[in-house]
Amino acid sequence: MDGAVNSRDVTAALLGGDEAGFLEAFFATMAVIGRDDVGITREAFGAGENDALAAVGAMAKALGVPAAADRAGNLQLRLEGAVAGPALAIGSHLDSVPHGGNFDGAAGIAAGLLVLARYCRNGTKPPLPLELLVLRCEESAWFDRAYVGSLALWGGLGQRDLARCHRRTGRTLAQCLEDVGADVEAIARGEALRDPRDLRAFFEVHIEQGPVMVARGFPTAPVTAIRGNRRYPNNRIVGAAGHSGAVPRWLRHDAVFAFGELITGLDEHWKALQERGIDLVVTAGMVGTNAADHGMTRIPGELTFSLEFRSQSEATLDAFAGLVRVECETIGQRRGVRFELDEPLGAPPALLDPWLRSRLIEAAAALGVKTEPLPSGAGHDAAVFAGAGVPAAMLFVRNEAGSHNPAEHMEHADLLQAVDVLYQALQTTPWHENHGLDLAAEASAASRFTPFDINQKETTT
Ligand SMILES: [Zn+2]
Repeated sequence: MDGAVNSRDVTAALLGGDEAGFLEAFFATMAVIGRDDVGITREAFGAGENDALAAVGAMAKALGVPAAADRAGNLQLRLEGAVAGPALAIGSHLDSVPHGGNFDGAAGIAAGLLVLARYCRNGTKPPLPLELLVLRCEESAWFDRAYVGSLALWGGLGQRDLARCHRRTGRTLAQCLEDVGADVEAIARGEALRDPRDLRAFFEVHIEQGPVMVARGFPTAPVTAIRGNRRYPNNRIVGAAGHSGAVPRWLRHDAVFAFGELITGLDEHWKALQERGIDLVVTAGMVGTNAADHGMTRIPGELTFSLEFRSQSEATLDAFAGLVRVECETIGQRRGVRFELDEPLGAPPALLDPWLRSRLIEAAAALGVKTEPLPSGAGHDAAVFAGAGVPAAMLFVRNEAGSHNPAEHMEHADLLQAVDVLYQALQTTPWHENHGLDLAAEASAASRFTPFDINQKETTT
């Protein structure tokens, strides 16, 4: 598909200042590019992502904003600022999960285009150079690795990642990066392809992927932190099978009852922690007895389960991992079963910049936009920028019906409120002050390199 042809209406609206009309046309364009039989599929390093990037490139051309691929194969739009210096960047992604929705990622790119267009139309320059970064392959669906474009940019991909195969085409990540002109040799050496000090701030506007903002009635919300996670994908409880009628309670080694006790115990701990204001979410998404053995009249001798928990605090993740071990030991002894816990995988929490967040909160207050800070339960490119030492901030936009599914739904008016807040913050922040940089150094000291752990397998974002 030719992005230039389809983006004509979009750019007319952008240039004419019809922001609502732009959003209609932009999301219609993205829907045409990504439409599948069920929802939206914009395949990373495939036609979907490539056409979406081409469409944004054509919009940039119409606006007169220079656009080019960066050394990681991401699309970079750049407007010079009133003064030279490190740039302010806005970024997100245009790939989607298979059969996903039209707003995940794309909302952030639309927001960035609107902000750039405001400067172009007014004939004013942003306070510092302003970039829009369309980051490749954010979704882990394509290579079992999330944040590919951001990680490539900041030296976070390893050899093992580059050898991963694309879910549909089977081409390796190294080949896919080469296809889009990336500097694969430098990426393979783990080199950061730009200096984090080139960026004064990174902002990501993104739909909320949970139900909180709809429930609370906020159109937009600054994000406090991106939850880290601890994952035990394949765990086993080994007890003893037996006749359901013949074995008394005290002689049973029932794996299902042991699991029930574990989950009830963890839920009690979770509740107690939550009552103390500690951020935590816990999920056991896959549970089963062996279908070859199980039966109505058989005491289950084995059960397998997954366990995942997330928090904004690494200390909470560590402490909860300790509680899991203690519960397993205690229940195991009491019930005569053995818990075999998998090797944990994980990603650390990403600290977003408190000073930038306070600027967004002030901007919202000045505009009378109702808002409340919120943690992000899902991962985002902003986490990689924060880990690389770039002060990062996020604004969520209210979204119904969850995300990573065709029903995700964002009101354009809510996105426009987020754009107003972001634009106001860009305009009113005293960028010469040093707050953000100091805090970024602290944040990056806390989380440096850990988001890039090549041994972790991200299965969701
Ligand atoms: Zn996303």
